[in-house]
Amino acid sequence: MILYRARVLDTPDDPFAGGSLRSHEDAGLLVVDGVIRERGGFESIRARYPTGPVVDLRDGILLPGLVDTHVHFPQVRIIGSLGLPLLDWLEQCALPEECRLVDVDYARVVAREFVDGLVAAGTTTALVFGSHFAPAVDSLFSEVSRVGLRVTSGLVVSDRALPDPLLTTPQRAYDEAHALAARWHEVGRTRYAVTPRFSYSAGEGILDACAAVLKDVPGAWFTSHVNENPAEVAEVARLFADAEHYVGTYDQHGLLGERSVLAHNVHASDAELAVIAGCSASVAHCPASNSALGSGLFPMRRHVEHGVRVALGSDVGAGTGFSMFKEGLQAYFAQRLLGDAGLPLTPAHLLHLSTAAGAAVLGLADTVGDLSEGKQFDAICLRPRAGTSLDIGLRHAGSPEDALGKVFALAGDADVADVWIGGEQVSSGGFRRPTGPQSWSIAAETR
Ligand SMILES: [Zn+2]
Repeated sequence: MILYRARVLDTPDDPFAGGSLRSHEDAGLLVVDGVIRERGGFESIRARYPTGPVVDLRDGILLPGLVDTHVHFPQVRIIGSLGLPLLDWLEQCALPEECRLVDVDYARVVAREFVDGLVAAGTTTALVFGSHFAPAVDSLFSEVSRVGLRVTSGLVVSDRALPDPLLTTPQRAYDEAHALAARWHEVGRTRYAVTPRFSYSAGEGILDACAAVLKDVPGAWFTSHVNENPAEVAEVARLFADAEHYVGTYDQHGLLGERSVLAHNVHASDAELAVIAGCSASVAHCPASNSALGSGLFPMRRHVEHGVRVALGSDVGAGTGFSMFKEGLQAYFAQRLLGDAGLPLTPAHLLHLSTAAGAAVLGLADTVGDLSEGKQFDAICLRPRAGTSLDIGLRHAGSPEDALGKVFALAGDADVADVWIGGEQVSSGGFRRPTGPQSWSIAAETR
């Protein structure tokens, strides 16, 4: 039993549905076996539990652990390859790196770097796009289990339009996915996600194999990409001449339901939004990636008006890092730039999108996403270095909402001082010992 004393901000009431930011200036959170058993004013809880240990976090801000609903494991080393549109970026930057994960020793090191990156950014729950190689996906699951992250992931499958080493067959796709799911689905905090890369690279046979895995692995998740870039959308329309639209390529194979998360959906038609809403699937919005690849401005208002659930993803390689604070800020920018077509977002919206909305999209709303009684203690403490803009801003914030706006404008990985998952502290102090190469030299050996 530990009693945490902190200034707490979270969004148990959805700001998209009229809720607002919940702020508690001097909260007490009594955590027993990783679960928040009681929450209230610190003094009143302390009066009832006068003897147990107290962790005083009042020099920072306590937030729920961040949730990333679309992030690619094999791409941690290629973040920052700017200047290309999607298909060129895939060919020149992403896919050559993804081929390297055929080497399981390489994949193991990348898995460690990837998990370190998530934790350093304060991400405690993620829907992770895996690798095309089953042993690499196994390495990822091993690493996330070692650290305790809540990760849903799976084998990425494709049978066309990618380099040969990344291609598979429907039978092999089924067999490998099924074996991975048998090992990792609903084991501890890991779950399996059926993951065709995108219809562009997945023929009918692969999509049928994906449907078979979904059927044979009860409770499995589904994730893929959709409507990211106009050239990609046009090619999918050519490849699937019988499909009504891009979303239909997944829907007609029975791949969409409440456990399905489609990334991007920047160029969505109303008919597609209706299909997504109709089957209670959801969308991972990746605003930094959308800007970096020039994919477009996400129509969040139309998603919300159609009743489509939306959360945030960093996309990592095509994005600009793991920080969900940056994704929140970029989501805010994109909606501003859309003018009247945009959805005005407040700091409470940004926190919700980065935490509770992600938890809901991943079916974990009863477990994580805010710091209410009964939830797991998945939390981060922000503690900026003295004299930084965030430190100054927080000391002079006029209201909790104002403080939260400063967090999304100014916070980065270095401000994430402590991270807890299920009550276990997995990072502390704000700086983590690097586990990869120690040299800053760009010519350094990468293994
Ligand atoms: Zn992606």
